[in-house]
Amino acid sequence: MTEVQIHPDTSGTPTVLLIDDSQFVHRLLDARLRSESIILRGAEDGQLGIKMAIEDPPALILLDLDMPVMDGFETLRMLKEDPRTRDVPVIVLSGMNSSQDKVAAFDLGAIDFVTKPFELTELRARVRSSLKMYALLQMLAQKAQIDGLSGLYNRQYFDERFRNEFDRTIRHGQALSVAMIDIDHFKSVNDTYGHPAGDSVISGVAKLITQETRSIDICCRYGGEEFALIMPETEPEQAMQLCDRIRAKCEQITWSRHPTRPVTISVGVVGMFDGQSLSTTPEAWIEAADRNLYDAKQCGRNQVKATGIDGTSIGRAKAG
Ligand code: GH3
Ligand code: MG
Ligand code: MG
Repeated sequence: MTEVQIHPDTSGTPTVLLIDDSQFVHRLLDARLRSESIILRGAEDGQLGIKMAIEDPPALILLDLDMPVMDGFETLRMLKEDPRTRDVPVIVLSGMNSSQDKVAAFDLGAIDFVTKPFELTELRARVRSSLKMYALLQMLAQKAQIDGLSGLYNRQYFDERFRNEFDRTIRHGQALSVAMIDIDHFKSVNDTYGHPAGDSVISGVAKLITQETRSIDICCRYGGEEFALIMPETEPEQAMQLCDRIRAKCEQITWSRHPTRPVTISVGVVGMFDGQSLSTTPEAWIEAADRNLYDAKQCGRNQVKATGIDGTSIGRAKAG
């Protein structure tokens, strides 16, 4: 079966994926949903529909129950079992109006059920309300991953994301580095200038880290005045240079609430080279980065200490 690409892709517009074996239904919905602000994509069987949903998750799936080979129930079950597609809302379309089918579809995770022949005004209304709900859920999910003060990802997101990056890197034998960044003598900023001044320092350092890193780097607030930075495809040496640039720029910032008191950071970096094969765990990486951070603090603060995850010495970077 061929993929029916009905509308060209336009970014920002939600995509709706129609999985139905009937070309008539594809033509009908294409005509009737044309006025909605959506991109309608189509698959004429369950297997292709699942593949398309995995490759480019849509905001909504319209799924026919009665299809040859893999029916809608089986397709729905597979969509809901796969973590890559399980959160995409599915509206089931069915020619049969049996409550048994409805219950089975809802039990499998469908959010709505529309009976054929369609009452098109009703279908449009249901599509709209599902898309609104999806957008709200997306926003809430994203908010739950963001730290309110710094605007960076939070600790929970870091733990999950680092695990993923770690698995991906090991699988592809690519370079990876991680840094733990801690503000020096932060308690005294709070004690001397007050908690709001401390908060501005946290958000200022967060902004600096975001500005100095690439879009593929993942910046997180690890807790308190500590940040964690995941640098995919980055060897420890490069990571050390990047962190030293952040360190040097941080030292130069003039803070409006305490212009005469600069703020410095200490950084522990750990990394793996391209093509290196090692058996480690994400926990061991965090421990190693923490050890290097501790070492940077012990050796006078305002510096970066880096090692390879196998213990190779990479170096130390500091002012002057
Ligand atoms: P070191 O150089 O060894 O890192 O010393 P430090 O003073 O930075 O470290 P310490 O762990 O002693 O103090 C961290 C302080 O950060 C204590 C805590 O009250 C403060 N803190 C944690 N979270 C926040 C926050 O969100 N806002 C503010 N203003 N302070 C915070
Ligand atoms: Mg500190
Ligand atoms: Mg600390």
